[in-house]
Amino acid sequence: MKPRLLIIYTGGTIGMIEDAETKVLKPFDFTHLMENVPKVKMLDYEIENIQFDPPIDSSDMNISHWQEIARAIADNYDRFDGFVVLHGTDTMAYTASALSFMLENLRKPVIITGSQLPIGEVRTDGEENLITALQIAAARNQHGKPMVQEVAILFENYLWRGNRSTKRSADNFNAFKSNNYPQLAKIGLDIQFNNDALVHPVTDPPLNPRLGMDDAVMSIDLFPGISEAVLRHQLNTPGIKGIVLRTFGAGNSLTADWFISAIKDTLDRGVIILNVTQCPTGSVRSRYLAAGLLAEIGVVPGRDITFEAALTKMMFLFGMGLSPAAVRNYLNTALCGEVTV
Ligand code: ASP
Repeated sequence: MKPRLLIIYTGGTIGMIEDAETKVLKPFDFTHLMENVPKVKMLDYEIENIQFDPPIDSSDMNISHWQEIARAIADNYDRFDGFVVLHGTDTMAYTASALSFMLENLRKPVIITGSQLPIGEVRTDGEENLITALQIAAARNQHGKPMVQEVAILFENYLWRGNRSTKRSADNFNAFKSNNYPQLAKIGLDIQFNNDALVHPVTDPPLNPRLGMDDAVMSIDLFPGISEAVLRHQLNTPGIKGIVLRTFGAGNSLTADWFISAIKDTLDRGVIILNVTQCPTGSVRSRYLAAGLLAEIGVVPGRDITFEAALTKMMFLFGMGLSPAAVRNYLNTALCGEVTV
């Protein structure tokens, strides 16, 4: 049986073309994209596609787009062996994180890719990324099971766990990285899968799409010199249920009384605060007084979670209509490999 794959084209640089007058890149349709990758026909796969109408620059991605992608996968789950999502790079890590939570019991590959140069350009990275993504989505192990049974980002030389990845470069072809988790595969002459890093589910329950996502979340960046007025203004944002607090180093914050009491007042209102470090690598831990104080008053330590996964996990948990206590509990748990607990 030929592998059956579904491509979901959302937009992004991979399918863009340059406006003749303004020289600005604009999303273009899927037919244009496929015309530029004739080599896809050399793959002996049955491929169908769905496209966003209109395709978008991923800077415009929002919850309703994630729901559209997740619904497309859920509606077609039984008909296809794997899914390739073509997406702009700017918010790819957020989409990958969101989908990983929304597609509960995923047992098939969802490979997200895009490119830094449009597919029509001579030096494009899009052709190779698309072909490799399709090959990974079709790959099976010796027992006939999909090699990848999770949401992953394929970009240039690496496959990364979706909810562990971050866009690290605006112009390098290797644009993504998991700073706190090993690669799922290395792409060279061959595709070398990293079995120890991939998930290997032992049960096979049906896919359970959970499409509810709540946008009542926000992030606050600490910086030296932040004033009480600025901090309190943000903490008092109306309707907010969850805050990702981006702290220094190993989760450290200011220790001043005004700071701790502003955070405590917010927690007392039932708002959940998750402590995530501004450092690209490493983990939040109560190594210094500052991080210890936050944990003591009830801020949840985000450990080694990425900012993208932290934010979308909160959207997801509140979207399930959970109580603050249950949200807190799940933030301390790995739902799909997004954090080391
Ligand atoms: N702005 C583009 C996008 O995210 C960038 C890209 O695709 O690389 O859609």
